[in-house]
This record gives sequence, C-alpha cells and structure tokens, in this order.
Amino acid sequence: MNSYDVAIIGSGPGGYVAAIRCAQLGMKTAIIEKYPVLGGTCLNVGCIPSKALLDSSHHYEDAVKHFEEHGIDIPGDIKVNLKQMIARKQSVVDQTTGGIDFLMKKNKVDVYQGLGSFKDATHITIKGEETTEIEAKNTIIATGSKPSNLPFINIDKERVITSTEALKLTEIPKHLIVIGGGVIGLELGQVYKRLGAEVSVIEYMDRIIPTMDAGLSKELNKVLKKQKFKINASHKVKSVERKGNEVIVKADNKKGEEIEFKGDYCLVSVGRRPYTDGLNAEAAGVILNNRGQVEVNDHLQTSASNIYAIGDVIKGAMLAHKAEEEGVFVAETIAGQKPHIDYNLIPGVVYTWPEVAAVGQTEEQLKEAGVDYKVGQFPMRALGRSRASMDLDGFVKILADKTTDEILGVHMIGARAADMIAEAVVAMEYRASAEDISRMSHAHPTFTEAIKEAALAATGDRALHI
Ligand code: FAD
Repeated sequence: MNSYDVAIIGSGPGGYVAAIRCAQLGMKTAIIEKYPVLGGTCLNVGCIPSKALLDSSHHYEDAVKHFEEHGIDIPGDIKVNLKQMIARKQSVVDQTTGGIDFLMKKNKVDVYQGLGSFKDATHITIKGEETTEIEAKNTIIATGSKPSNLPFINIDKERVITSTEALKLTEIPKHLIVIGGGVIGLELGQVYKRLGAEVSVIEYMDRIIPTMDAGLSKELNKVLKKQKFKINASHKVKSVERKGNEVIVKADNKKGEEIEFKGDYCLVSVGRRPYTDGLNAEAAGVILNNRGQVEVNDHLQTSASNIYAIGDVIKGAMLAHKAEEEGVFVAETIAGQKPHIDYNLIPGVVYTWPEVAAVGQTEEQLKEAGVDYKVGQFPMRALGRSRASMDLDGFVKILADKTTDEILGVHMIGARAADMIAEAVVAMEYRASAEDISRMSHAHPTFTEAIKEAALAATGDRALHI
C-alpha cells in the first residue's frame, strides 16, 4: 500500500493548489479525483468555461451593436455559430485542465482517479477502474460543491437546467427564465441575452446580487434593464413545470399575486451545496454541520486532528481564490508554519459587463456594526478612458473610517472592475487610508483613475474631474 504525508480528496482549485504547495514543502503528496479530468468545478464547469462564453458573447454583441459606431463595416449578416462558440469554450477548458496534469507531474504529485472514501482517519479507499487503498498521515478534504435546487423543482437537464448544462446548450434559448439573481444566474443570463435570448430573472430577495453592497445591486439592475433584461425581484418561485418544449414558472410577487413566466429554458441558479457524497466522513470521525459543510476550526482542521477541509465544502464564500488561499494555508499549517488568511480581503466579482467587484465591508455591514464611515464615489462616465471605449456605466465607491481614514470597503461596477479590484485589495492589506490612494499616481487614461478620484472624494470631497 502506498503511504503519503498528505492525501488530498478533490482536484478543484482548492485541492490542486494544496497539492502543489504540499509538494513544494517537501511532503509526499497524492491527489484523488473521481472524474477523469482534473480541475474540479472551476476549470471544468465553472469559472473558466463561463468566462470563455462571456468573452465570446461579448465579441458578438460588440460586432452587432458597436462596430458600426466605431467605423467598422462588416459586409453581410453577423451570425452566431453556437457550436463553434461551445467548441472554443471546451478547448479553453481542455488546455487549462491539461495544465493541471502538467503541474501535478512537475511537482511529483501522485494522481489517483476514482471516488475517495475514508476507511478510517489514515486510510482512504479509491474506487476507480480498480479499487486501491492508500495510507495518509494527513488528509485534506477538497470535495467542493454541486448546484443546489428547490425541493419542488425537477431538474431534467434538458430544459430545466443548472449552470453545468447552460455551458453546453445546442441552441440559443428564445426565452431563458433564470431562477436566482446571483452571480452565476446573471453571468450566464448575460451570455444568452447577448446571443439574442429574452432573459427573465426571478429573484426571491428584494434585489439582485443581494449579498453585495446595495449601491452595486442598484446600478447593475439599472444597467441590465437597459440591456433589456427583465428583472423580477421579491418574487417567490412556487412551481416549475415542463410541457413539451415549454417551461412554465409560477411565482408570487410582493403583493402575493401569482405571476406566470413561460419560456423554453429555465436555468436554476439558486446557489450551491457542499458535496460530501460517498466520502464516508463518519468513518474518519469527521463531523458535518447541519448545512452539510465539513465543520472546521480556525486552522481549517476538522474534528479529526489529522484531517483538514478547504474550499466550497466548508463555510465561507464559494469562490475559487478563497479555496486556493485555504489550500496553501493548510499545506503550510501541516508543514508546521503559521500562515494567515484575512477573509475580509477576499474579493468578490461578477463578470457581467459592466463587471462588478468588491472587497471589505459593505455600507449595510458598516451601518449594522455602528461604524462611523465616510463615502467617496466617482462615476466611470467622467473618465476619458471610459468615453474612448464607450463604457460609461458604473462607479467606484470607497468607504473609509470617518476618524482614521482607513479604507474599510471598496465597491465598484464598471469596465474591467474584476481586474481593478486588486488595487483595493493591496491597499487594504497594507491598511492604507483613502488619502494614501489619492496621493498615488494612476496612469492616464485608465479606468483605475476612478479609484484615485473616489479616494480623493473620500478625502475631503477633493475629486478633480467632477
Ligand atoms: P471544486 O472545484 O468543486 O472541486 C471539487 C472536486 O472534488 C471535484 O472535481 C469533484 O469531482 C471532486 N470530488 C468530490 N468528491 C470526491 C471524492 N469523494 N473523491 C474524489 N473526488 C471527489 N469562482 C470564482 O472565484 N470565480 C468565478 O468566476 C467563478 N465562476 C463560477 C461559475 C460557475 C458557473 C460556477 C458553477 C462556479 C463558479 N465559481 C467561481 C465557483 C468556483 O467554481 C468554486 O468556488 C471552486 O471551484 C471551489 O473549489 P473547490 O476546490 O472547493 O471545489
């Protein structure tokens, strides 16, 4: 039987990054993945393919709506070739997952394909083409998550679908009904909206992206409505019924009236649930909480002291970069180091266009905590860079402590916000004040000037270009 210092169950961004870091630290490492392809949700059916389709559909929309204004004439009709679009997405996925195979080999991590189940706290059975058993001094559970559902919805994977099927449709929906106005629903909704579908979003809460700052929700709502999304907040879905190629969704609005939505596809994007099926966690003495998450302490250690858990399968934001940070954290903890993660500084991003990105506290959180704060906000439309590319929507908002000027939260919506948020993370990591950012030179013309201007606005209302 092969013995390891560390075995990792699950090869998503949490698991494979943990494996690389364990190997870098000189530990004999194995990774176990039940699917034949490494990379988990993120690389196969999550972050990467969704961004590939967002990019392709963005190019199409630009060609149809904006090329003429830019002075680019295309003779003949511009058409979508969905088959090619999906094929390109798959080739991006294949290249990326192939990269993980390379990294495992480079770092001498042994890869086992099959379902990993605990026999006890130091032995794992792997059921693949053959059944194998390995011994591990330490194990990291990185088994991720799966789409969740409402109890009365039958996801048939043809017309009533999850994000996984939405990434490989063979036709453009005429009317896509999206249940859930969170990140995944809006990103995939926007893909098909750009390709020509009518898109209706049904959200239970009173606003889309309800966990983000309310100012961002409001602006995104406004922009998506301009893009002809039909957004129905405060609607409680009661039933989803399929009749042939038609899907009928019934929901109660705020007044308790029943509203009927008829479409040809319904994307159920109501969140994700931690995944531990087949893991046999009990055999190792690993306790799950009542939300199905693996329970961990501040060291991400489970109730079995040699077993750790990371990523979507534990508490916290379900984000690839959060899983990666935790992978490195646990590897270093096992190696005897004292790593640190500041969960307040894990940025959240929505890759719609305009993009939405945030780090730190929202205004709602600061109000609830009774923190005295000030706001500096700057609209993207006041930037020369925004006018040059016609990306006028959105703003940057900086929240800073009223007394000390320390930045407490940065919330932005606009072109390339996903990349721009990194500046805010760096600033907050080093506990910068709004004035610190306002005194740094930002290249002109760039979208990042909005960050400097918002910082100036927060520092005594000193924005220069408004
Ligand atoms: P996962 O990536 O879910 O990987 C877990 C792996 O474990 C899987 O491969 C699974 O097969 C394997 N496994 C499970 N049980 C066993 C077992 N018993 N034995 C062996 N193998 C097992 N996050 C972002 O940060 N940015 C984004 O842009 C983004 N976009 C997304 C878009 C979509 C459509 C979706 C669905 C998700 C998106 N996410 C995004 C979320 C991101 O994918 C997850 O947060 C991330 O994948 C979590 O990583 P993980 O390592 O915890 O688990």
